[in-house]
Amino acid sequence: MSALEIIQIPVFDDNYVYLLHEPIANKTAVVDPALSEPVLEVLKEKGWTLDFIINTHHHFDHVGGNLELKEATGCTIVGSDKDVERIPGIDVEVKDGDTFTLGEQTAQVFDVPGHTRAHIAYWFEDSDALFCGDTLFSMGCGRLFEGSPQEMWSSLQKLSQLPDQTKVYCAHEYTASNGKFALSIDASNTALIARMAEVEKLRAKNLPTVPSLLGVEKQTNPFLRANDASLAQAVGLSGESADKVFAEIRTRKDNA
Ligand code: ZN
Ligand code: FE
Repeated sequence: MSALEIIQIPVFDDNYVYLLHEPIANKTAVVDPALSEPVLEVLKEKGWTLDFIINTHHHFDHVGGNLELKEATGCTIVGSDKDVERIPGIDVEVKDGDTFTLGEQTAQVFDVPGHTRAHIAYWFEDSDALFCGDTLFSMGCGRLFEGSPQEMWSSLQKLSQLPDQTKVYCAHEYTASNGKFALSIDASNTALIARMAEVEKLRAKNLPTVPSLLGVEKQTNPFLRANDASLAQAVGLSGESADKVFAEIRTRKDNA
């Protein structure tokens, strides 16, 4: 079993599109193609044929290239069964607990609502790769456009159950500003301080900070730590539920 080859394609100001290639069966998928041209370019360069688009949610910066890519390659589009009307060109509907197969590699599908009501994530266990769209970011999480804090907190809890060595392939390079906010409420967290130093170095060279390791996120991401007593205390909610602490942290970030 050889792992997926994963190519990170930066588009727009801060989006990442991921091209996944499974070498044994020679199958290729793209996660959240915001645009078609950069994806077609890499496919051509690599000599790969696009078999699938897998979408995490319906926002334009994730599905903008769907129809052009389908037209150009005849690929199959996979998305949430709860968002059929908003995922352009959807062919295959998936739901929580389903799997998506790319040659020899299989992803588990999780419902992770909060950013949107039908957001999903794909976990390729054998490649230690999680594609979580705009649900979990490095040191942050997505804005709550269509979900409650409680929903987002339980979605993030689901993802934080995955192994520490899981690489978090999120859809945006928001890490530096997320980290700045995280430090504003969690200033004495040594793991966070160390991660920020690393992030600043990478960004100074214009290098991606994504993917990050889930184990590091568990130690540094305030949105995964709403059940930690020190975070509750930091936002003045000692003894309150993780839901409440999470909601407060999200509100503070929205207003930061
Ligand atoms: Zn989004
Ligand atoms: Fe996005």
